[in-house]
Amino acid sequence: MIAFYLMRMVYQRLQERTALKRLARSGIQYIDQMDGFQFEFYLKALFQELGYKAQVTAQSGDFGADLIMKGPQKIVIQAKRYGRKNRVGISDIQQIYGAKAYYKADEAWVITNSTFTKSARALAQACNVQLFDRKALQELILQVNPTHTAEKVCQDVKPESRSCPTCGNELVVRQGKTNRFFGCSSFPQCRHTEAINK
Ligand SMILES: [Zn+2]
Repeated sequence: MIAFYLMRMVYQRLQERTALKRLARSGIQYIDQMDGFQFEFYLKALFQELGYKAQVTAQSGDFGADLIMKGPQKIVIQAKRYGRKNRVGISDIQQIYGAKAYYKADEAWVITNSTFTKSARALAQACNVQLFDRKALQELILQVNPTHTAEKVCQDVKPESRSCPTCGNELVVRQGKTNRFFGCSSFPQCRHTEAINK
């Protein structure tokens, strides 16, 4: 009896580990390091492989859509690259629902590397807004298996430029021992640094 339980436990652990390893191949750990601009670039590339092209509008952000993708259908998308503890809330669902009407889109999606609050999920279901949380995003990436991997985008696509909050000079991307980060261009006079995914 005990041997049976032990075997079952080991089997479950192995299954969990295989599932986690599979999801890790999606490159989500690189998405976690991106800024919002890099994340949008990555999603555009991902959608291109699904036969969609980004429709460029300067004011799209004003109407609640980060991306407008045209292909077999017209999809408005909000892209939320958040830290693990920041969940996507109800206001983002309201915004993309408004954008869907404004742009006369067929579908509205919210894609995040994080998760959604309970009320966000409830409203999305009522408004027919498609939600992709961390796990669904990983599954989507694994299915598409994009040539522009998250790792490549992280390395090759410059994050949006920022200025130093301490001295006002431009921040530049620096390579650290384990990761890339923003440092002040007037280093060593100014020693301000910050994370790219801040
Ligand atoms: Zn500075």
